[in-house]
Amino acid sequence: MVIVLESGIAEKQVEEIIRVLHDHGFDVHRSTGVQHTVLGAIGVHPEFDHRQIELIPGVAEVLRVTEPFKLASRAFKREGSIIDIGGVHIGGTEVVVMAGPCSVENEDQINTIAKYVKDAGAKILRGGAFKPRTSPYSFQGLGEDGLKMLRAAANHYQLKVITEVMDKSQIDLVERYADILQIGARNMQNYTFLKDLGKTSKPIMLKRGLAATIEEWLMSAEYILSSGNPNVILCERGIRTFETATRNTMDISAIPVVKKKSHLPIIADPSHGIGIRDKVIPMARAAIAAGADGIMVEVHHDPDHAKSDGAQSLFPDQFSQLMKEARIIAQAIERTIA
Ligand code: PEP
Ligand code: MN
Repeated sequence: MVIVLESGIAEKQVEEIIRVLHDHGFDVHRSTGVQHTVLGAIGVHPEFDHRQIELIPGVAEVLRVTEPFKLASRAFKREGSIIDIGGVHIGGTEVVVMAGPCSVENEDQINTIAKYVKDAGAKILRGGAFKPRTSPYSFQGLGEDGLKMLRAAANHYQLKVITEVMDKSQIDLVERYADILQIGARNMQNYTFLKDLGKTSKPIMLKRGLAATIEEWLMSAEYILSSGNPNVILCERGIRTFETATRNTMDISAIPVVKKKSHLPIIADPSHGIGIRDKVIPMARAAIAAGADGIMVEVHHDPDHAKSDGAQSLFPDQFSQLMKEARIIAQAIERTIA
């Protein structure tokens, strides 16, 4: 149930309404918007008579949320959420670009790539230090050494950091180095882990699972939100379909669908989405045109020798070209790219 409060309502009255909701046994989540304060009451059983809440002074409107996700829904928060990553705003008019290698490999590699992506206009440096690899014999990432290299390169070029955390035991460590915690596609349905992430204070970027419907993905976001972390960013990274011509099928249609259903920002990852270098640029362009709040792109200066995902990594020149094209597309839909 979503309770829209009258605009200009006094704080004391809001607290009183929250108290009444608690008395009914509901879990209450508050969202203070520009125009209205909205309360999300979770745990409402189907027989509950909503008029009991409608009658409370200060309540403007009570809406039943029919979707299974509540805190992630547009009904709970009408304006899109803007997540502030130390001055970089995700979900606002700017289309934010995250770029970097699939994995952090060594100091030289991450510094070289950080410089290229910074010069081209990226705001956030990506790079995995803990890698979810299909084979246990493949490169697994440099762990804390990789995190240190990533943070140092980002600091040097004034970039923010996004990197993957794979399980609960890594959260404290990764939080010390990252500005955004990336949750990989393979972990989207690891519900106990999602609850743990709800207790962290760092923003989370939740990738869509390989075989997850949009509703399942939003339910996973709901796990994080309902556990106390309001800063969730979604990431479309392609899904498994019957098509074999590409690594995954980049679901561009998920972008406008998610935008309608949810207030959460959405980033597109065309690198994993299509998985083939020469097709990453057209997918990135399409994602921006479709309304993505940002893109995450793998870039490598020597992809033939990359320890992971070289075949889908852009050369620095290609990344610069993409940035030029992306700016034109963003402008056409009244958005900006730095
Ligand atoms: C990655 O970003 O390098 C990655 C492993 O992504 P995904 O979880 O989408 O496969
Ligand atoms: Mn990768």
